[in-house]
Amino acid sequence: MIDPAHAIDRETLETADLRVLVMCLVHLTGDLRWLEAPFTPARDVRLVADPRAGFDDATRDAIIDAVMEQISNGIPAPVIDRPDPELLHRMMSVFLGENVPGEYVAMTMADMGLVERRPPIDAALPVPDVLIVGAGVSGIALASRLIADGVNVRLIERNADLGGTWFENRYPGCGVDTPNHFYSFSWSPKPDWSRFFSPREEIHDYLASVAEERGVLDRTRFGIEMVRAEWNEGDAHWAVTLRHVDSGETWTESTRVLVPATGHFSEPHRAHFDGEESFTGPIFHTARWPGDVDLDGQRVAVIGTGATSMQLVPTIADRVAHMIVFQRTPQWVRPVAEYRDTVDPRTAELFASLPWYGRWYRFGQSWRYGDGLLRFLKRDPEWPHPERSMNRINDRHRVEMTEFITSSLESRPELIEHCVPSYPPFGKRILIDNGWFETLCRPHVDLEVTPIARITEEGVVTTAGTLHEVDVIIVATGFDVVSLDRRVNLAGRSGVGLSDVWEPRDPRALLGISVVGMPNLFVMYGPNTNMGHGGSVMWMSDTQAAHIAAWIRKMAEERIDTVEVQPDAVERYTDEVDRLHDELVWMHPGTPTYYRTEEGRVRSPMPFRLVDYWSRTQTIDEDAFVITYLSEPSHAELAKEHRHG
Ligand code: NAP
Repeated sequence: MIDPAHAIDRETLETADLRVLVMCLVHLTGDLRWLEAPFTPARDVRLVADPRAGFDDATRDAIIDAVMEQISNGIPAPVIDRPDPELLHRMMSVFLGENVPGEYVAMTMADMGLVERRPPIDAALPVPDVLIVGAGVSGIALASRLIADGVNVRLIERNADLGGTWFENRYPGCGVDTPNHFYSFSWSPKPDWSRFFSPREEIHDYLASVAEERGVLDRTRFGIEMVRAEWNEGDAHWAVTLRHVDSGETWTESTRVLVPATGHFSEPHRAHFDGEESFTGPIFHTARWPGDVDLDGQRVAVIGTGATSMQLVPTIADRVAHMIVFQRTPQWVRPVAEYRDTVDPRTAELFASLPWYGRWYRFGQSWRYGDGLLRFLKRDPEWPHPERSMNRINDRHRVEMTEFITSSLESRPELIEHCVPSYPPFGKRILIDNGWFETLCRPHVDLEVTPIARITEEGVVTTAGTLHEVDVIIVATGFDVVSLDRRVNLAGRSGVGLSDVWEPRDPRALLGISVVGMPNLFVMYGPNTNMGHGGSVMWMSDTQAAHIAAWIRKMAEERIDTVEVQPDAVERYTDEVDRLHDELVWMHPGTPTYYRTEEGRVRSPMPFRLVDYWSRTQTIDEDAFVITYLSEPSHAELAKEHRHG
């Protein structure tokens, strides 16, 4: 009996997703009859699946009755708590109502915690110490793993608190647009998310609690930034110059392994406009939201219509006297029914108490927000309308979203031509309608599509000469995602810097992690590892963290001194990335996107399916690296020498 005092009653079960309950029954009872008709859920490819899963009333009652019977005297330990890969595969397929390719099983087993974690590294081995720069999602993911492995890990964080982007972005309405049960670490589920898409405060609190529980907080020094790191050939260490943000005091520390985990969205791309210094009111970027700004009753300009603006504008609309939104390019936007919904506290009880409920629910979310979309983002060479869409299905997305936009703007039909994009759907990061169009229809909100010419004392002037008088200007112009070399000042082997290794704005790294000329350096959330077609940043961070942790273990166990990726391996990998991107929507010539550099290379999103990236990170391709060993040879080293004759 694992929980005799649970609070799950029939009413609670009636709030459940029935396809998840069926899986719970398999675990609880060990009876595979639950995987057969009439208990097989209907396939449902929508982002928000119908919790009734296509069952008729009688079947639904039978499922709920069976769970009630199982838990009537308390919640029993599951009969099947470690399904083997074959059974798990069958369950995944039944759960989704489709034939899930076998390649997803290993990834799902890892996500469900079915893979045994290795014990800490033997402390007698030469375990390299690790310095992580940044205590955001990536830094927390890696540090959590390394601490469990017994690695001496230190973190520095320039901010006064952890959380990275979730600490820095405090604009009203800031929150996540990937469902939280997937936008969280698989090894640290939170059963009581208040919403399916939570506000930033809750995500920040979640990260803080993970960091505290896993000992990351104790290893983090706040208010410290890395000024520069130099690779020292003599002792094979990085000499890292650090600076107290407040006092300006600098000093140098040494580390064998350095991990820049400085994030993708940490440097605002703050658009500047002629004359803006003359503006008499507040003007600021959304990621630098001033604590004291008062928008109540003000005339407000918002520049930019990306994800940030779409969350901000509807949130502040009620408070302002007038709002003018400056749009350069329209966005494809889709509605997501659950976006504002709170999680019923009874459902939270299921996540907390019913074994396997959370894991299967998460699997459903990860599948819906996973790889399914990628193939529809590929160019079909036979498709007769390449200017507007990539293929037939992508064109159907265009029709559906156009209908949505058109019907949402019924009361302001003159806006329709400005709000329906000409480029293919998903060409820019797809956005969630968060009351966006409803807000644009409000009488005190205007959309301006004429470009901005300058900013004056009184407000914003367009190239048509119209002055929009405002009291506050909010610059929602996004982030500089590709200039990692400007964020991290490194001098690698022979003093070569990141900007020397990379052409201007052309970052490249094996798996987005290993950079040429930078020994014992692992980058997190590096080039081409942003989530383009689906996935969650928490998933990506954890996938990279597992890969880097495997490297650290290998370095200890094989007495490795240095690892350095070979240039030709990075070149081959980058060629593959470019080749795949050539076919994908982000290279569509009509699509302006921050995913692509000015030089025309897609350097933000990953072109692979999640399962492909995950599989690649599961092994270490030694041939792609130059490896040197500590002086005393290990068994592996001797064996390797022997192998190479
Ligand atoms: P963004 O998507 O890059 O949008 C920036 C907006 O500013 C675009 O509309 C852009 O127009 C406009 N802009 C840029 N420079 C301009 C200029 N000089 N003059 C006029 N307009 C200009 O930035 P974001 O909205 O901050 O979002 C960035 C990323 O952060 C998102 O893609 C997402 O990955 C992440 N994010 C996530 C969430 C979430 O819910 N999880 C929320 C917010 C942000 P063009 O389109 O013409 O370039």
